[in-house]
Amino acid sequence: MSIKIMLDAGHHGNYNRSPVLESYYESHAMWKLHLFLKEELESYGFTVLTTREDMEKDLPVLDRGMAAKGCDVFLSLHSNACDTESVDRVEIYIPSVGKEKDDRGLLLGKALAMAAASCMGVQTHAVKTKESKVYPNTEYYGVMRGACKVGVPLYFILEHSFHTNLRAAKWLSVEENLRKLAKEEALVFYRFFTICPKGDLTGDGKADDEDLALLKKAILQKEELTKEQKETADMNDDGLANGLDYLILKALLED
Ligand SMILES: [Zn+2]
Repeated sequence: MSIKIMLDAGHHGNYNRSPVLESYYESHAMWKLHLFLKEELESYGFTVLTTREDMEKDLPVLDRGMAAKGCDVFLSLHSNACDTESVDRVEIYIPSVGKEKDDRGLLLGKALAMAAASCMGVQTHAVKTKESKVYPNTEYYGVMRGACKVGVPLYFILEHSFHTNLRAAKWLSVEENLRKLAKEEALVFYRFFTICPKGDLTGDGKADDEDLALLKKAILQKEELTKEQKETADMNDDGLANGLDYLILKALLED
């Protein structure tokens, strides 16, 4: 896979201590999480870079975003904070400007937020955009502005709920949980970038007998396939979805 992902651990050193759980620092948890996520993404074949090699060293936010030049995705990992202890909600900031703003950015952003929320046992998630008021037509957050500036199409800030919430801070303090989170988030990327595995006409993530039956109907002209379905059904990439593809898919499923 030739997809390149830049991961950014939210903060350096001992930063953003939880006011309700003294042992929790956002910087520590997110550092661990970004290394786990790197591993998990690499296991799917993604190329993964990180904005910093050393947890103790800071790098200005704009530079971190701009370091993602040439990447397909920039993802900054955080846990949030607010004055209300009870707030326990996953939030993601998605591109608000540029060509991906209402399409793939939303799709991937939403999927990431949902996966993080479900893994963390958080009831709600929010997908947000924040445009800069000072510089129109660009992002409010420096890391996102940087990534946007160098042409990264998909860039996000993912807030893993609020470390001002005791439950969330406790959950994020368990290394095993961070590993689970990394696995779930990596799976979202994998699914997103391999949306249509060959033969998966129904789009449920796998090629199976249902797809074979649908292809048969299409060949017998009892069913009309969409353009995407036809491409997915074209097992031998000859530009057609026909009996030969049916035989290839059938043989593959019998394997
Ligand atoms: Zn943060």
